[in-house]
Amino acid sequence: MTTLTPALFIGHGSPENVILDNAFTKSLQQLGQQLSKPRSILMVSAHWLSRGSLLTTAPTPSQVFDFYGFPDALYKVSYQPNTDASVIADILAIGKTIPLVADANTGFDHGTWTVLKHLFPAADVPVVQLSLNSLLNREQHFALAQQLQTLRGMGIMVIGSGNIVHHLGQLDWHNRHGGYDWAIRFDQQVKTALETGDVDFITQARSSMNNDGRLAIPTEDHYWPLLYVEGVRHTSDKLTWSYEGFEYGSISLRSYMLS
Ligand code: ZN
Repeated sequence: MTTLTPALFIGHGSPENVILDNAFTKSLQQLGQQLSKPRSILMVSAHWLSRGSLLTTAPTPSQVFDFYGFPDALYKVSYQPNTDASVIADILAIGKTIPLVADANTGFDHGTWTVLKHLFPAADVPVVQLSLNSLLNREQHFALAQQLQTLRGMGIMVIGSGNIVHHLGQLDWHNRHGGYDWAIRFDQQVKTALETGDVDFITQARSSMNNDGRLAIPTEDHYWPLLYVEGVRHTSDKLTWSYEGFEYGSISLRSYMLS
C-alpha cells in the first residue's frame, strides 16, 4: 500500500504572525516538528489569483512581500526555498482535464512563506506553488484538486493556506484573539462538515448558508485553498485539528492535518 504524505490546511491570519510568538505560531512549530520532511511541498495560497492555474517553476522563486503598513521586521524575514524540477514535471503531468501552466516569473507570496517559516524553518524542503484560477468556481477548484490526489503518494505534501472565516472589512482591532458570534457559528459549521466529510456543504458553504456564510466569505480567495486540501483527501485519512481559534473577530485560524 502506498504511504500518503499528510495534507494540511493552515488558517494563516495576519502576516505579522510570521514574527510573533503566540499560541497559533507555536501550534505551527509543533506541527512542523511532528512531520517527516516530504519530498516537496505543493502550496496553494489565497494570495495568488490568476487567469489559469499556474505553477511556480523558477529554481528559486522570489519571496514576495505582498502586504503594506506592517512593522519593518516583517520585511526582513527571509524564506527562500528552492523548487524541485522532477516534482514540477510530476505535477504538470497530472493536470489532465484542467491544464496547469508553468510560470517562471512569479514568486512565493506571504500566504506561503509566513506559514512555512514556522513549519519548516530551515527552508530545506523544496516548495512549488499553484495559483488559484480566478475563472473557476468552487466545484471546479475541488475537481482540479481531486486530480492532484495522487501526488500524496509521491511524497508531496499539499498545503492550503487561507482562512475559513476571513472578512477584513469587519476586523475588530480590540479583539486580538476572539471571534464574532457569526464567525464562531460559521466556523463551527465548517468544522462539523470537515469532520463528517460533507463535501456538499464544503463546496456550497457560502451560498447555502444564510447570512453567516456571506459574512464569513465575502470574497472567495481565502476559502478556496480549503477546497484543495479536501480535494486531495483520501477515505483513509484521519483529521487532526492543529489549531482552533480566531483573531480580530472576523478571521478564523482553524487549521488541520489529514494523515
Ligand atoms: Zn491572507
